[in-house]
Amino acid sequence: MKHTPLTPKFPQMLHGGDYNPEQWKDYPEILERDIELMKEAHINCVSLGIFSWADIEPEEDLFNLEWLDNTIERLWKAGIHVILATPSGARPHWLADKYQEVLRVAEDGTRNFFGGRENHCYTSPVYRERVKIIDELLAKHYANHPAVIAWHISNEFNGECHCDLCKKAFREFLQEKYGSLEDLNHDWWAHFWSHTYTNWEQVQPPSSKGEDSIQGLVLDWKRFVTKQTIDFMKSEIETVKSANSEIPVTTNFMGMYFDGLDYFQMAKELDIIAWDSYPMWHAPWGNIAVAQCESLSHDMMRSLKKSPFLLMECTPSTTNWHSVSKQKRPGMHVLSIVNAVAHGADSSMYFQIRQSRGSAEKFHSAVISHAGTNNTRTFKEVTEVGELLQKLTHFVYGTDSPAEVAIVFDVQNKWAIDASKGPRNDGIDYFGEIQRVYHYFWKNGITTDIVDETADFSGYKLVIAPMLYMFRDDIQKKFREFVSAGGTLVTTVFSGVVNQNDLCFLGEDTEEKLSDVMGMWVEEIDGLYDGDKNRTSWYIDRTRLFYDMTQLCEVIRPTTCDVVATFEKDYYKGCPAITKNAFGEGFAWHVAGCAPEALFDELFRQLDEKLQLERAMDAEIPNGVSVTWRQSDDGRKIVFVQNFSDCDALIPLKASYTDMVTGNKFGEALPVEKQKFRILLENPPKNDE
Ligand SMILES: [Zn+2]
Repeated sequence: MKHTPLTPKFPQMLHGGDYNPEQWKDYPEILERDIELMKEAHINCVSLGIFSWADIEPEEDLFNLEWLDNTIERLWKAGIHVILATPSGARPHWLADKYQEVLRVAEDGTRNFFGGRENHCYTSPVYRERVKIIDELLAKHYANHPAVIAWHISNEFNGECHCDLCKKAFREFLQEKYGSLEDLNHDWWAHFWSHTYTNWEQVQPPSSKGEDSIQGLVLDWKRFVTKQTIDFMKSEIETVKSANSEIPVTTNFMGMYFDGLDYFQMAKELDIIAWDSYPMWHAPWGNIAVAQCESLSHDMMRSLKKSPFLLMECTPSTTNWHSVSKQKRPGMHVLSIVNAVAHGADSSMYFQIRQSRGSAEKFHSAVISHAGTNNTRTFKEVTEVGELLQKLTHFVYGTDSPAEVAIVFDVQNKWAIDASKGPRNDGIDYFGEIQRVYHYFWKNGITTDIVDETADFSGYKLVIAPMLYMFRDDIQKKFREFVSAGGTLVTTVFSGVVNQNDLCFLGEDTEEKLSDVMGMWVEEIDGLYDGDKNRTSWYIDRTRLFYDMTQLCEVIRPTTCDVVATFEKDYYKGCPAITKNAFGEGFAWHVAGCAPEALFDELFRQLDEKLQLERAMDAEIPNGVSVTWRQSDDGRKIVFVQNFSDCDALIPLKASYTDMVTGNKFGEALPVEKQKFRILLENPPKNDE
């Protein structure tokens, strides 16, 4: 296999999920039955101990591992492996009662009461010390147990704390970054409105009751929150690794649409990327749109380490915290897991194995429902996934997802766009722009990496940087080298406006703005009201195509670029709407307004034709069918064909494939029923006879 196994002690597709036996200590017969049912569902791994602190340490320094020992032994005897968690995601009552500083402080300065989870202060020395004590105990006791294959560090890190300890750490972070208040005042542009800082103690986290008009402050605060979360996570990693450095560590991320933390920074500290995926299948906007959004998140998770990842949580059927807990329709569970594997997952793990009887998660579905039986639709579908993953292990596990296209999605850029006052305070849809750009590649089975501004672009043919408002990490130099060496770069409206501190670039056509590469510079940016639009006119092969531009439109001054399409209306009628510039051996394109998916589909169709991008399958893919591939160890394509539409599909083939589930061979046409999938292996081309 191309990649090192995620869990070397048990190098197989993982099937399992969060198991919470501490909720069932009064029901020994249920705990016994659970293991029988897990075996029946082909579960080979569970995550244990995520919320077990109160059961491991019921009173300060009084520890009880007996129940956990018993659980792990019983699981291990049944051949079930364990991803063991550190319990720092939720603390016991006694800890918060005795040490108030562990409770988070809100933006308005009020301290939380006890309750909830993932809401401790990351800076608190007391919390770090108590976490270290319990982590050390767990690590010494279990790090060399044959069942334990990975550490699950804490749970779904998120949020921020405004306590005095965190404020002090924030000021130290700034002092190290800027050195002097003079530099901080300059880089935050704090001399406006007389907001000049004259004393470090004046620096407070951004707050709607206080300072929220300095975007440099907002950005640095968010960077500090990520840094402090990493610092906390690293202290846990060091503790568990000290007992056995061979056991890999992970934590569960929450996908691309969680923008509270910079996952690209966090990923550097982890051995395995894992994430919790809860799409709203069967929502009114349709499964095709949901599948596309979900695929984008899977692609980003795979791109964090350019490696397979773990699907650490998903629901076997309903998600209790969605606005409506809709059941996954028959077949959707297995289809959604195939989608994850298609984009690089080497597991299907659930929240949860056994459905909680009471409290917040009693209506979240589980492998084993309140009925406690194998005779439920959900149990049977989970079992079907287990059987499928066993079949996939020998030819999918650890395989690669080679990509020739990268889309730049940078969460720090999102923070900057969200914080900016203007040019559209009614919302600038950065996520939407990424999705519109992604559509063509998803629809056509072309693998895309989702990378941030720190990426190395040299291995790609095509790099798309939608709405990259903030240029940081020397990205201009990397883009310049990429295009110069023959790469194709596409940027879109509201790109290259500010530096990493949200200070606007000065000058007309400057290298800081990448004007040399783009062959133009932006003179004005026009905000459009909701419902407003301009129109683009684009001549292609003697046909005139029109597209509506909304939200933001730029008035562009061309220098060396070709004008490919123009605006049709208003005072910038005739001005460039799409530009193309030859630079070195490559080309740089720019789209000067918030464009519809159809415009991007046409642009990328043209670029694809020229660049001959690698596709999962050389075939016309029907609408709503997603085709994705991973590369088998002998270089052949493993093709995942998934029909998210409401119609059966028939795909004409130009090559021959073997269905790895049924063994059937297909050479001319591939039938894929609605809401079903096929996993194919490309057959070697026949020798000339
Ligand atoms: Zn704090």
